[in-house]
Amino acid sequence: MTTQFQHARDGETTDAMRRVAERENVSPEFVREEVAAGHAVIPANHNHASLDPMIIGEAFSTKVNANIGNSEETSSREEELKKLHMAIHHGADTVMDLSTGQNLDDVREANVRYSPVPVGTVPIYEAVKQVDDPDDITHELLLDVIRKQAEQGVDYMTIHAGVLMEHLPLTDGRKTGIVSRGGSILAKWMEENAMQNPLYVHFEEICEVFAEYDVTFSLGDGLRPGCIADAGDEAQYAELETLGELVGIARDHGVQAMVEGPGHVPLDMVAEQVEREREVCDGAPFYLLGPLVTDIAPGYDHITSAIGATEAARAGAAMLCYVTPKEHLGLPDAEDVRDGLAAYRIAAHAGDVAAGLPGARDWDDALSEARYAFDWRRQFDLALDPERAQDYHDQTLPGDNYKEARFCSMCGVEFCSMRIDQDARDADGEMEHIEDETDLDDSSAAEVNLPPVGTHDTSRVPELPDFLREIHDADARSGASADD
Ligand code: SF4
Repeated sequence: MTTQFQHARDGETTDAMRRVAERENVSPEFVREEVAAGHAVIPANHNHASLDPMIIGEAFSTKVNANIGNSEETSSREEELKKLHMAIHHGADTVMDLSTGQNLDDVREANVRYSPVPVGTVPIYEAVKQVDDPDDITHELLLDVIRKQAEQGVDYMTIHAGVLMEHLPLTDGRKTGIVSRGGSILAKWMEENAMQNPLYVHFEEICEVFAEYDVTFSLGDGLRPGCIADAGDEAQYAELETLGELVGIARDHGVQAMVEGPGHVPLDMVAEQVEREREVCDGAPFYLLGPLVTDIAPGYDHITSAIGATEAARAGAAMLCYVTPKEHLGLPDAEDVRDGLAAYRIAAHAGDVAAGLPGARDWDDALSEARYAFDWRRQFDLALDPERAQDYHDQTLPGDNYKEARFCSMCGVEFCSMRIDQDARDADGEMEHIEDETDLDDSSAAEVNLPPVGTHDTSRVPELPDFLREIHDADARSGASADD
């Protein structure tokens, strides 16, 4: 069967390209050109029937991936489907099933069947589960697992084919060695067997399987830095050169390819990393994990990495793999997944806005207009996480009457700057030009030491809820004031 890449190169616009164009608000021809150039990928396995096609590429909105999957401790298919649902509900553009527990086939098949977004996997994880010792993995086993997962409808796979024997000594002086799971397994395999990486040696056979089902390569960075001290070292960039070579081989086989990136990178090096990948890998979409810009904040690594991810998106990264607050510490729970996805959707969008992606700022402008209009319901609807936005608002002002209030509890009625600003403007929304400066000595305002500005219509301010009135009255009784 023909891949999206082959169709694009043949000048054919597919249904998937048309759907993607609709979602991205661009022309189908533009989508086709980007795919044909290898600068964008549409991960869409022929066997993934429930897929709503999407595109990953620098010229399109930055996408966010969420990792899901079971472990030895949690293995039920239902639990995994709940995670899938939650990830999509909170805005994941793709999901990676990183299951390493039981019932891997059941879980994977269910995820593909019920997922409208592309599903990615790391096949070497399943290969490891099928042998007593990871050093016994064979290339036949790897190819069997890859073929089976392709048949099951997996849309993209992380293949760590760029880690070579000759790269391994370059990691000797690192602070944190090899931190990629796939990279460390393969490095040990090469050390024990004194043989080259089987994924590299048999890469063309993998290409043939991928071409048959239209599976997209996510070329893994097995030697990515695990701390900012190791960022941009010889090992990382040597592997990147190999990944560039593999992108070319994949394209020669009509297969789509994107490239994975770090990891941990100080902020001042993030853009350089994106630019280098673009150059070495001929514009193949760059898919980054983070990167974390500092290593000092375990427990907050959704924030440390969202900072790097924002800069990466601004510089041209095509997809970001989310990091949750539990990174380096434990398996994320539902709330961690929600927080991680929110952090990364913010990073992706902020990067798009800063990069000037056409239409990206429309969302910000719509929300800002709703905010200035005190249209709280529209603000919630437009919010990245509507449920959280409304929940936070309702914690202090729960009543329906507060959904049109010209203030919230952050500054309060008296100090609501947007309300004060609106009251200072005329009907055209302009500040009146004062021809004659008020003589404060003659002003009644001088007597009470207030500026001569208008006050808002207090009759339109809703009543305080009882519990706030009690606090207000108690403050008044104790003589508390804003100056306290
Ligand atoms: S009270 Fe403050 S935070 Fe709330 S709407 Fe007014 S200006 Fe905005």
